[in-house]
Amino acid sequence: MSKKRNIKDMSPQELEVYLTGKGFPKFRAMQLFEWIYKDAADFEAMSNLPQNMREKLAQDFTLGRAQIAAKRSSKEDDTVKYLLCFEDGNAVECVLMKYSYGRTLCISTQIGCRMACEFCASAYGGLVRNMTCGEMLEEVMAVSRDIGERISNIVLMGTGEPFDNYKEVIKFLQLVNHDKGLNVGMRHITISTSGIVPRIIEFADADLQCTLAISLHAADDKTRGILMPVNKKYNIAKLMEACRYYIQKTNKRITFEYALIKDINDNPEEADKLGKLLKGMLCHVNLIPVNQVEGKEFRKAPKESINRFKNKLAEYGVEATVRRELGSDIEAACGQLRQKYMENPYNV
Ligand code: SAH
Repeated sequence: MSKKRNIKDMSPQELEVYLTGKGFPKFRAMQLFEWIYKDAADFEAMSNLPQNMREKLAQDFTLGRAQIAAKRSSKEDDTVKYLLCFEDGNAVECVLMKYSYGRTLCISTQIGCRMACEFCASAYGGLVRNMTCGEMLEEVMAVSRDIGERISNIVLMGTGEPFDNYKEVIKFLQLVNHDKGLNVGMRHITISTSGIVPRIIEFADADLQCTLAISLHAADDKTRGILMPVNKKYNIAKLMEACRYYIQKTNKRITFEYALIKDINDNPEEADKLGKLLKGMLCHVNLIPVNQVEGKEFRKAPKESINRFKNKLAEYGVEATVRRELGSDIEAACGQLRQKYMENPYNV
């Protein structure tokens, strides 16, 4: 028996090709697509589809549902961390955050990650495999199902490097944005990359309306090279060139993420370098007090150095905000919960 496919991996066009190939009329594809994103419990529940079509679909496809393997709610804020388990036994994390403007979900794009950033818990164990677009869609749906509410905003900042899984991520963006699907506005989506230059260029050319965030974390190659191995392939000069191309092409502001680590990248000289690097650019800097990860030496920059850093950037006219820390009591930082789960699934 051949393996069933996840129907959430299929675009409306692909559903159409499948259905017409089985002798069903074209218009059924959109009806089916709508049922999938209305979160029908099974194919049998898709009541306006003919019985023989429902049976055929159940033979060939699954609805690709994930199980909630663990869930932790923060006592300090409304952040909830989910560990979702897929059929093949792999688990991914996503984090739900509550803001005044709605529900934001931070999703994973790969099982594991191969970028090996020094400060990031997702680096442990390297890349296991890419996620499919259907699995990313299910992250949104599984959490929405659990809370009984719509997810209005999505950030691709969980485990994985979105631009190392480019094709599936772009397909995910297109499907999650579909007005007959989950209909999440592109402007309500942020995609974050560690700086894979050719994909930034490709993304600029794709001209999607979502926000691009770049994990910078240092303004000189020496420091960035230590923190992020990707810098050895695409250094800051190449990265900045790609960013300028993106801005010129899309006319959109870039967000730069900068995790402040005590005595590593939080000193005034680093702030000076960053100010010079970003001066005059259409951008915004998100200063993030680094989340301490078990087994790593990095310490959070103290409040005074964070403020000093922010004020220094202001001298260069570079806008910066200090990101509100959410869920620090539930190990909400990238990869932390999954790491524990993989070590001992019964102890998360
Ligand atoms: N691979 C992508 C997206 C996932 S990481 C990227 O690198 O952008 C999302 C963000 O969290 C990145 O900016 C990443 O550098 C940051 N991050 C990872 N570990 C962190 C930690 N321990 N503390 C603070 N930020 C962290």
